[in-house]
Amino acid sequence: MNAPNDQATTGQDAPITMMEAPLYLNYNFTAGRATERFLNQLKQGRLVGQRCPKCRNVYVPPRGSCARCGVATEEEVPLGDKATVESYTVVHIPIPGNPIKPPFVVANLVIDGANISCLHLVSGCSNEEVRIGMRVRAVWKDASEWGYGMDNISYFEPLDEPDMPHDQIGRMA
Ligand SMILES: [Zn+2]
Repeated sequence: MNAPNDQATTGQDAPITMMEAPLYLNYNFTAGRATERFLNQLKQGRLVGQRCPKCRNVYVPPRGSCARCGVATEEEVPLGDKATVESYTVVHIPIPGNPIKPPFVVANLVIDGANISCLHLVSGCSNEEVRIGMRVRAVWKDASEWGYGMDNISYFEPLDEPDMPHDQIGRMA
C-alpha cells in the first residue's frame, strides 16, 4: 500500500505519525521585592510569610499583594517548619532531570502560621500513609547547601501529632 505523497515515510513506506522533540528552556525572572525578601530569609533557613492588612490572610511564598483584596502586603510573619497536608497526589511519571524516582507524593501543604498552601514533597513514610490533615515537618538540607529556593527543604516528613480536622486546615494563622 502506498502512503499519501504529503506524508513522511520510513524505509518500509509505513507512515510516520509521531516524533519526540524535547525542548528545554531556561528562564531568568525578576523576583520583585516580596519574593526577594522571602528568598533571602529562605537562604538563612527561615520561612517568612506576609500578612494582608485587610483580610489577615498570611501568604507564603508572598507575592507582595493579596489576590483577594488587591492591597499590598508588607507585614512579615515568621513561620514554623511544621505544616498540614491540604491535598496531595501520587506522581507515577518520572520528571526529566529530577533525581526522585516515582511513585512519590507531591502535596499542597499549609505551613503553620499561613493560610495559603504551597507545593512540596512528602516523604519519610509510605505513600499510602499520606492523608489530608496529616501533620508534617520540614526536613532541611545541610546549611552548607542552602540557596535561594524551596529545595533548601528536601521534603516534609510525618509528625507524631493528631491529624488536623479538615475544616480547620488553613484557618489557624
Ligand atoms: Zn486580603
